[in-house]
Amino acid sequence: MSLLSVSDLAAGYGPLEVLHGFDLEVNQGEIVVILGANGAGKTTTMRAISGMIPRRGRIEFDGQDISSSSPDSIVRLGIAQVPQGRGTFADLTVEDNMLAGAYVRRDEVQADVERWFDVFPRLRERRSQRAGSLSGGEQQMLAIARALMSRPRLLLCDEPSLGLAPLITQELFGVLKKLNAEEGLSILLVEQNANLALKVAHRVYLLDTGNVVSSGSAAELAADDSIRKAYLGS
Ligand code: ATP
Repeated sequence: MSLLSVSDLAAGYGPLEVLHGFDLEVNQGEIVVILGANGAGKTTTMRAISGMIPRRGRIEFDGQDISSSSPDSIVRLGIAQVPQGRGTFADLTVEDNMLAGAYVRRDEVQADVERWFDVFPRLRERRSQRAGSLSGGEQQMLAIARALMSRPRLLLCDEPSLGLAPLITQELFGVLKKLNAEEGLSILLVEQNANLALKVAHRVYLLDTGNVVSSGSAAELAADDSIRKAYLGS
């Protein structure tokens, strides 16, 4: 069943149109990856879905039209974004960052903090530490944990591997895969590392200068020679 359904999405910055009208879907329980070169419009797509920038076209979440909804009401409906560059509150502690992520709800907040500390034990050890003094990998984990605190049904994750060592990246993707398999969390993921992305994705969209140029199952895209050459380096 389609959880997120985007049709004819166009968006940009002032007079600059970056997305030129494409369709995209995330089904319930799927991990969908958007691949594309620098500047293809991946981050812009995430911002348009989460309501951070003006957009045209139709965006439906769980059957509800959110095309002109505010970022705040989109979070309340169940879409949480992990922005590129992490975007944690540097001066707040780890725990306060997580509490801030729960601003849309009141019940069982502390229990959820402990629950995500179980998933990210390194954050528990650093719960009183300033977020700004965490390592890059820890900050990325915190950004994800904070987003999860709103109890989303769809997690938008913008290049979580950016600037992280391969081992930390693998750990992070392992957590995303587990959240998907065990909690049924649907995930829309932007990623530059195509090899990595194809390992976790159910389906993939290939974005090129603001248009979807190819889409299909991860296996289908991995088997496509021209895509292999352009994005997988083999
Ligand atoms: P990357 O992989 O490098 O993060 P991307 O696919 O996420 O790239 P976007 O960040 O969506 O690409 O950018 C798409 C285009 O929109 C680029 O040409 C970029 O310069 C432009 N752009 C992005 N943000 C802004 C902004 N705030 N104001 C003006 N133009 C912007």
